[in-house]
Amino acid sequence: FLLAHRDEAEQELKRLAITDALTGLHNRHWLEERGTDHLSLAQRHKYPLTAMMVDIDHFKRVNDTHGHAIGDIVLRQLSTAWHNTLRKLDSVGRLGGEEFAILLPQTTLDDARMLGERLRLLTAGLDIPSASGPFRVTVSIGISVANPHDPEFSQILQRADMALYRAKQRGRNQAQND
Ligand code: GH3
Ligand code: MG
Ligand code: MG
Repeated sequence: FLLAHRDEAEQELKRLAITDALTGLHNRHWLEERGTDHLSLAQRHKYPLTAMMVDIDHFKRVNDTHGHAIGDIVLRQLSTAWHNTLRKLDSVGRLGGEEFAILLPQTTLDDARMLGERLRLLTAGLDIPSASGPFRVTVSIGISVANPHDPEFSQILQRADMALYRAKQRGRNQAQND
């Protein structure tokens, strides 16, 4: 009995180590491990792999206007909406703060761009409840495709981050790719 119990406790610890406590999504650690696995599979079998960085626009303003608790609700509500619209094979995780990454195995750049547009519109149309009435937020998205010579998964995320930076510079509420 004690052994079985310890097994359950170990399982729970493992789950907590790969989960983001606020949103219930995967955390950075999990995304990096899974991204590394998918990169070697994609390179070996020559299938496409795409990564997406998603960052909420002017999130500091949301906290300043509505309070930190509502900011947390935004993070949770968007997480649920994105999780529900993605395929089973895709994984969305929270990297930290108001920054998320999505891993898209067997997805071409064209397909990723379509998905990015879908996520952008879904987000911009979502009503967030607050004491002063419902409000909306937008996201900027950076997309990057793995190439056959990428030595590490972090390289792909780095390129997605640079594309995200361009999306911010060009006015936010949009997706850019490398
Ligand atoms: P940009 O459009 O350039 O991304 O602007 P921004 O305001 O979204 O970006 P910035 O990096 O200036 O601010 C991020 C804010 O996110 C600041 C911080 O208070 C807030 N934040 C980070 N983590 C959390 C969290 O867990 N909960 C809440 N409510 N806010 C968070
Ligand atoms: Mg932001
Ligand atoms: Mg940010």
